[in-house]
Amino acid sequence: MSAIKGHEILLCDLDAFFASVEQRDHPEYREKPVIVGGRPDQRGVVAACSYEARKYGVHSGMPISRAEKLCPDAVFLPVDIERYRCVSAEVFAIYERFTAQIEKVSIDEAYLALPAEKGFETARKIRKTVKQELGLPISAGVSVNKLLAKMACELAKPDGIKMLRPEDVPKEIWRLPVKELPGVGPHTEKKLKQAGIKTIGQLAKFPKNRIIKMLGSVGESLHEFANGIDTREIETEQEPKSIGEETTFPKDVYDREKALTTLLKLTEQVGYRLRRKKLMGRTVTIKIRFGDFRTITRSRTLEEAVDADGTIYRIARELFLSNCGKPPWRLVGVQVSNLDKGSYEQVSLFSSIEKKERQLSKVIDEIRERYGRDAVKRATLISRKESSEQKRL
Ligand SMILES: [Mg+2]
Repeated sequence: MSAIKGHEILLCDLDAFFASVEQRDHPEYREKPVIVGGRPDQRGVVAACSYEARKYGVHSGMPISRAEKLCPDAVFLPVDIERYRCVSAEVFAIYERFTAQIEKVSIDEAYLALPAEKGFETARKIRKTVKQELGLPISAGVSVNKLLAKMACELAKPDGIKMLRPEDVPKEIWRLPVKELPGVGPHTEKKLKQAGIKTIGQLAKFPKNRIIKMLGSVGESLHEFANGIDTREIETEQEPKSIGEETTFPKDVYDREKALTTLLKLTEQVGYRLRRKKLMGRTVTIKIRFGDFRTITRSRTLEEAVDADGTIYRIARELFLSNCGKPPWRLVGVQVSNLDKGSYEQVSLFSSIEKKERQLSKVIDEIRERYGRDAVKRATLISRKESSEQKRL
């Protein structure tokens, strides 16, 4: 019954992701209904809403105008997708500490494969880490296949964890309305209702051949799903062609040191992801978007592949300084491409300064994995200027 024999599957899903990021970054929005998707006077739909807003019947996909009628006092916010992408990358970097078997479903949802008996404990650790390091609520479902992991996660929400065993299906799943089964949309639900099928249990016990006659090949999968059977495997991503991070500043930046500090933070994320995947790259690219939205990228290709934060940052910094023109800057990004797995272990090729940089990066990775990402900061990140700025915030 399991997708991969001897494995357990986790479905990790951030709760009300966009709204949770906004509530995390703006304490004044906490415990308030928050609706992300645009302002009420603009057309558009709800992209995400906090659980406080859901109490009023607001849900994602609903027109903003309707959401405003249901919950006029909510905080309405525009979608800041670039920021959510950055946060999502941080969440996925946490998953990568626990397994390489990750299937990205969407910006806030992923399947993870873990060795048998390790699923629940890992899900617990992931939830704790995401909460401690990123301050975000995340729910997790654990089971032997993707379908049951997904359903366990739905039952666990919000901010919960649940394990669902195949033998739990009759008790836990069969009582649910059939539309709760993944793959059953409004159209299918209507057809099933016409046949007298209202719950997942009724679908499970219905003769399979009649379901297939009614719904075609989809019917076969749905009948299996209703019985807790799912043979789909985790589809991990192919090797990436590049690894990059970018961020849009909350406000346009005029201060060069501030832009460079951000570039360093992004470089550390890129370096970390490279090392996690045991990849190195020969091309370093930076991206700059100016206040007037003009966007440039500049690259340098090296003789040897690199993966150390210090080395990547040195190149990114030079590229920035010789191309940054006049402020303000709206976005900066850094990317490493021309990736190569082979050179990872060939340390002998490196100069002693390279070796030191790589060693330092590894030590920092270890400390961060043990104590959280803020445990270590490079000297340039805690310059006097920076710390006084942080105080002002
Ligand atoms: Mg979610």
